[in-house]
Amino acid sequence: MTYGLADVVNQRRMIDESPAGEDFKTIQRGKLDALLALAEATDCRRVRLLGYFGEDSKPCGNCDNCLHPPATWDGTEAARKLLSCIYRFHQNGGQRFGAGHLIDVLRGKVTDKVTQYGHQQLSTWAIGAELSEQQWRAVLRQLISLGHVFTEGEYHTLALADTARSVLKGEVQLLLRVPSAAPKKGRTTRVASGKTRSTADAPDLDFEAQQRFESLKAWRAEVAKEHGLPAYVIFQNVTLAEMARQHPHSLDELAGISGVGSKKLEAYGREILRVLDAS
Ligand SMILES: [Zn+2]
Repeated sequence: MTYGLADVVNQRRMIDESPAGEDFKTIQRGKLDALLALAEATDCRRVRLLGYFGEDSKPCGNCDNCLHPPATWDGTEAARKLLSCIYRFHQNGGQRFGAGHLIDVLRGKVTDKVTQYGHQQLSTWAIGAELSEQQWRAVLRQLISLGHVFTEGEYHTLALADTARSVLKGEVQLLLRVPSAAPKKGRTTRVASGKTRSTADAPDLDFEAQQRFESLKAWRAEVAKEHGLPAYVIFQNVTLAEMARQHPHSLDELAGISGVGSKKLEAYGREILRVLDAS
């Protein structure tokens, strides 16, 4: 699902400006939030969807996130910087600004507007130079999707929602998808059969971890064939990727990985450790 910050802002504005009653608008906003949360989800989409209807479930092993766990990064610190910056704007004369200026200030980019408002004096000036403009847009989009930031007026100026406080205090961890917008050559090279290269399955692994991941998948394919089961029933990709990343050396360490229950540990634990050590 590909969409940008402008889409989110436009959808919200269409609801805000529609002539419908407040009750209806509240429902529409709730639906939009749920849709955006689903789009940004880094875990099983089916679990999310059923959760939306109040039903508990286990990862399905079949949705795009289960089959190809998205690369994620911990955006908690970035989100806190962004929210503090909006807070500082507000504190500094009650001014509100849009996404472009906010990102310029975070990245320490001197513009006419920065000079005009003296924003180089803000404590949040240039605190986010480590992220690109595109990365900041992704952080902001997800904060808007999650309802911590909202936009106002015709200039889409940014304001903090009450829930932003919990993020600022560090009470909420934000796991963000690595933006896939910039299509890099070879990242998800499609071959003639329509299958993606397996390296796209766990793009956040380093080279050695990727090797371990491939070995684990080959081992899983054998086990699945032996038992006549679909591979994901043995272990899901996300679990194998985590094993490859953490490289446990004992059954205890292996047991600490999410998705490795006691039955699977007993059935496959030693085999997995052997595969990991051999690769
Ligand atoms: Zn799933």
